[in-house]
Amino acid sequence: MKKYKLVLWNLIPFGMEKSDRKYPPLNLGIIASLTPPHWEVVIRDEYFEEFKTEPCDIVGFTAMTSHALGAYEAAGEFKKMGIVTVMGGVHATICTEEALAHVDAVIKGEAEELWGEFIGDFENNQLKRLYFCAKPVNLNKVPKQAFHLYNSNYQWGIVQTTRGCAGNCEFCVVTSIFGATYRKRPIEAVVGEIQDMPQNRLFIADDNLIGFSNEDHNRFKDLCRLLINKNVNKIWITQVPLQFSDDEKMMDLAYKAGCRGVFIGIESGSVEVLAGKMKKHMNVKYVKEGNFVEKINKHGIQVFGSLILGNDEDGKDCFRLTYSAIKRLKLAMVHVSPLVPFPGTPLFKRLIAENRLLYTDFPNDWRYYRKAEIILFKPAKMNVQELNEGTLWLYEKLFSLSSIISRAISSYFTSGNLKTAMIAYKVNLEYRKTYKECSRLIKEQLKNSNFDSQLDKISG
Ligand code: SF4
Repeated sequence: MKKYKLVLWNLIPFGMEKSDRKYPPLNLGIIASLTPPHWEVVIRDEYFEEFKTEPCDIVGFTAMTSHALGAYEAAGEFKKMGIVTVMGGVHATICTEEALAHVDAVIKGEAEELWGEFIGDFENNQLKRLYFCAKPVNLNKVPKQAFHLYNSNYQWGIVQTTRGCAGNCEFCVVTSIFGATYRKRPIEAVVGEIQDMPQNRLFIADDNLIGFSNEDHNRFKDLCRLLINKNVNKIWITQVPLQFSDDEKMMDLAYKAGCRGVFIGIESGSVEVLAGKMKKHMNVKYVKEGNFVEKINKHGIQVFGSLILGNDEDGKDCFRLTYSAIKRLKLAMVHVSPLVPFPGTPLFKRLIAENRLLYTDFPNDWRYYRKAEIILFKPAKMNVQELNEGTLWLYEKLFSLSSIISRAISSYFTSGNLKTAMIAYKVNLEYRKTYKECSRLIKEQLKNSNFDSQLDKISG
């Protein structure tokens, strides 16, 4: 019989329908491993079960901004039962005061060096309200996830091997959360964790798995070599910068180690945008040359590109230009959306300072800060309606059946591989459903448009 019970909840984003959840909540698996053995730990996932309260000593929530309102509501239910509530994750780290108004304690920043203290304080009846990680955690201290506590329905495993990024791109929260220093877990620990996970497919959830320096690149190659030498034999997808396409040896090793797809933040087909406020100068050369997809595909690795609309340098022609760029770059699979100014990013701070955010009644308005279904800011070179209408036009162009088929055919010629083309076709069909839903929401917003009152509000 365990002495205490901890319940950890992974909630679906506030107000969203349940969808497929492919992989487990990594940070909750780590928290569970950090909890002493005299605690019973339960990890619950709203993707698989209805939210409910239950008797326990502590309930913990992790939340991105899109989950924050749901986490506050859920914490309120547990608090009514006299149960101690704690919250961590990106949102509580950025909006700490706000989170403290809804839960008993906040873990601000990385939890590895704080969780033991938090649990000890609870047991000694000396709980503090704030546990603050003042310096980046040494990643040697990251334990293996508690795989045995996860729901058995996840189709994909997940692992993280690095944290931190010096990129500091204006729209991205990674540098604020994890710092500018690229920190790496020992590759032996990573490979051991991958071997132990029950799934044969996984997402390596690094924001940039290969890093930027030669040393980082060599470490990635060593990781691949170890996966190969240990016959791990699992396939994986991950996130890399465009520099990945420069190194034939790296791509060859990645494929042999199981890599079958990479997400790449291309961000824009416009050099002016990349070198503008976004500060993604590093992509300029690749977008100009335009052959990175072919180079990566040649190694049997798919490219999933992501692009952003409504940047300050984007004019009304950005939708047409983005469509042409996707064709020119031969991107078979893409994610395109208007800019979302998430809290904690330099972009959010700038738009607040420029009085350009449309929804600022926080925490209530965090409900809109999720996928870009609603335009959240006043664009610089068009109005909100034009950004909405242009986005709709682009979604319809990109996800029409004829366009999906044409990109799959182009993928076949780029990769020389029928399987690659079929995967692109299937992924795009799945995405078509998502974009149909986004289009529906945009149309609704256009119909019930309250931009005028929002704009009146921000212009005082
Ligand atoms: S977008 Fe990528 S490169 Fe830029 S700061 Fe974020 S993780 Fe780093």
